[in-house]
Amino acid sequence: MPASYGIIGWPLGHSKSPLLHNWGLRTSGLPGKYEAWPTEPKKLKAFMAEVRARRIKGVSVTIPHKQAVMPYLDGLTERATRVGAVNTLFWAEGKLMGDNTDVAGIVAPLAPYKERLQSALVLGAGGAARAACAALQELGVAEICVANRTEAKAQALAKDFGLASVSWEGRAARPWSLIVNTTPLGMKGEHQGTSPWPANGFEGVGLVFDLVYNPVRTVLLGDAKKAGVEVLSGLQMFLQQGLAQFEIWTGVALEEKGARQLLMMDLLATGG
Ligand code: NAP
Repeated sequence: MPASYGIIGWPLGHSKSPLLHNWGLRTSGLPGKYEAWPTEPKKLKAFMAEVRARRIKGVSVTIPHKQAVMPYLDGLTERATRVGAVNTLFWAEGKLMGDNTDVAGIVAPLAPYKERLQSALVLGAGGAARAACAALQELGVAEICVANRTEAKAQALAKDFGLASVSWEGRAARPWSLIVNTTPLGMKGEHQGTSPWPANGFEGVGLVFDLVYNPVRTVLLGDAKKAGVEVLSGLQMFLQQGLAQFEIWTGVALEEKGARQLLMMDLLATGG
């Protein structure tokens, strides 16, 4: 039987994962299919039983299941343990394991800038912020700080990772080598056209990484560029976390340029 792969989340909306992974299967000549499996939280237990019964080869996990799937697994990778969340299920020696490729998705685009990253501010304190903190620690950034609308959550996240936090209102009071946006501000839908950073607050900022990838060009990235600051788009994170998943499941490293073009063309065609 051809291998079965897919993504679970609720609601799943317009996930680009099926596009990327089905392209990967096609271009590498591998049999199998990657599907979208919208799964309500109350149906997670039944879904996880099905993963084992059907030996589903690979699962991408997104909101709201990234932590909820953990009790159903036989083990976690070191990265998933550190983040405290899972975005990838895979089999290893008969065991159903959880990994977190969101970290690789943030580390890879930042790696070329590593020497310049003395300080970093993470905006937001949800799941993506946890991956960002783990990634920045892996990159060896000396000073990492968290700012979040709900300050108590910033403080809790900072404590988990041994970092500092600042108030949301005070986030732009000093310059940072890197700002990482992990809030949905700027995302297509209700937040499009908004930014988590003041347009006149880029003095001394070295690099801005917006994890939002739809649209590719957010207000934050537009403002940063206008101020002469280098930028990284969330599309790069989405691409890298997806390529890492594909390699875990199949052992095949997909061609990055082709995958980027595929996603870019799709996002532009759908108004992203
Ligand atoms: P999450 O766990 O729901 O966390 C969302 C965070 O954003 C929370 O800290 C929340 O603050 C903050 N926030 C929400 N609305 C806000 C607003 N109006 N003003 C200020 N802060 C606000 O979500 P997540 O999983 O971390 O994902 C967050 C974003 O990351 C997604 O929207 C997506 O764009 C991006 N992402 C991108 C990729 C990729 O591959 N590029 C992967 C994962 C996520 P409170 O604590 O105050 O509610």
